[in-house]
Amino acid sequence: MFFNYRARDEKGVCSSGEIEAADEDSAIKQLQSTGLVVIFIENTLVACRACGKDISREAVACPNCGCPQKEEVAVPGEIICPNSNCGYRGEPKKEPRGSTLVGCFLCLFFLLPGIIYFLFKSGYRYVCPKCGLQLKSDN
Ligand SMILES: [Zn+2]
Ligand SMILES: [Zn+2]
Repeated sequence: MFFNYRARDEKGVCSSGEIEAADEDSAIKQLQSTGLVVIFIENTLVACRACGKDISREAVACPNCGCPQKEEVAVPGEIICPNSNCGYRGEPKKEPRGSTLVGCFLCLFFLLPGIIYFLFKSGYRYVCPKCGLQLKSDN
């Protein structure tokens, strides 16, 4: 497997790179044998989000189960719900902010708060149609 490392030589000059070794200990020994002091070493493999198998940090999808590993980029106009329990993907629900009824009521009885309310509520907000999470609002 491969390891990313950061190391320092006897002069204190730092270097970093990638090294192939059977395990972390032998990677450190390999680096030490070249006169380096290992500051940091990290396996370049990560566990698959779905099956847990070790796969490359750079892998787009798991070679074992095919599960995509990278955060997917949303198509313009589509959303991916940030709620990890929901995971909804698609069109967000567009909702007008505030209620016209409340605005009219305020206008009738208290003109100024009514106007303020209408100014404030203009625009839409986008919510996830599955879990109701507010995603963004525009003005
Ligand atoms: Zn997998
Ligand atoms: Zn959601």
